[in-house]
Amino acid sequence: MTDRATALREAGRDIISLSVGEPDFATPPHVIEAAKAAMDAGATKYTPVTGTMALKKAAVLHFQRDLGIATDTDHVIVTVGGKQAIFEALMATVSEGDEVIVPSPWWVSYPQMVRFAGGRVVPLRTHAKDNFRFDAADVEALIGPRTQWLMLNSPGNPTGAVYPADMLLRIADVLRRHPQVLVLSDDIYAPLNFTDGPHATLANLCPDLANRILTVSGVSKSHAMTGFRIGLASGPKWLIQAMEVLQSNSTGNPAAVSQAAAVAALEGPQDFLADWRESFRRRRDLVVAGINAIPGLSTPVPDGAFYVFVDATPLMGRFGGDDNKLALHLLEHGVAVVSASAFGGRDGFRISFATSEAQLTEALSRIKAALA
Ligand code: PLP
Repeated sequence: MTDRATALREAGRDIISLSVGEPDFATPPHVIEAAKAAMDAGATKYTPVTGTMALKKAAVLHFQRDLGIATDTDHVIVTVGGKQAIFEALMATVSEGDEVIVPSPWWVSYPQMVRFAGGRVVPLRTHAKDNFRFDAADVEALIGPRTQWLMLNSPGNPTGAVYPADMLLRIADVLRRHPQVLVLSDDIYAPLNFTDGPHATLANLCPDLANRILTVSGVSKSHAMTGFRIGLASGPKWLIQAMEVLQSNSTGNPAAVSQAAAVAALEGPQDFLADWRESFRRRRDLVVAGINAIPGLSTPVPDGAFYVFVDATPLMGRFGGDDNKLALHLLEHGVAVVSASAFGGRDGFRISFATSEAQLTEALSRIKAALA
């Protein structure tokens, strides 16, 4: 949809894109300066495969300070975006026919990566009435002898679901009963958590499960650094080492200059994050109120990330039950969104509110007119 919106825009159409998954804020200037200085200082060559010691130390600081996870440089890996960490973890562990439980609606790459690794996707459906969260009993009902992983993404893309500590603790009890299950905790949106209180994550809450949890993070979403392609993961040594083998024989190290920029991002000032979070929270409130005021559309209030997952069930008859047609209809009216079915959901669409309040207000009035 983003490509299609760009093509229409290049053809002269006025399109507001609510389809992209990256912050609209500029990368902080001190990060850009660090990248320039690093290039001048010769950061243009290979680095150790799993990242420079400077960035691994910064990653340890980040996991401890921002996620409350005690780790060390032997238990972290720097990857080419958070995406590569997830891909490597699955490729290193999933054998033909192994099952991976993926809560749906899901981030599009999870099921594709599972299938690429030869695994079987076991969808765990979540619903708007539950703020798109599953409970411990829901996941236990799906666990079998071939279950290899449970994917956990909080705050989540595409629904903004956030799991509080008490829900995670109940899920942990289930995991203790099923020792064959690993957990991939994708916390890449952790700084964009709008709930009061600290971000809750399994590796912090349950150190006894540390040997089975890979926590994925990065700087893409938190520091508006999507193009630098730096991800971070913390987990058991046996898994980090297996991921290193894959990385060593595929991409090799992440770009040296990007690693230097990520050190500046993680060790430099973090105070701008509170402003960004506040700005996202205002946009969220604007979009949620706007969507719920349009007849036929509804959404719960997402607690994190920068997405609103909209239900359009009452309107689907007009689009032959196909939410891709609904998304194309909205594009015709100047707004690019992504259909719910692209995320394993149905009868709706995802809005990314990583754009200005003025653009969001205009987009909401176009959506309203398009569906009137
Ligand atoms: N995990 C989730 C849930 C995401 O939405 C994304 C990016 O869209 C990623 C991981 C990957 O981020 P990166 O750009 O660091 O590879």
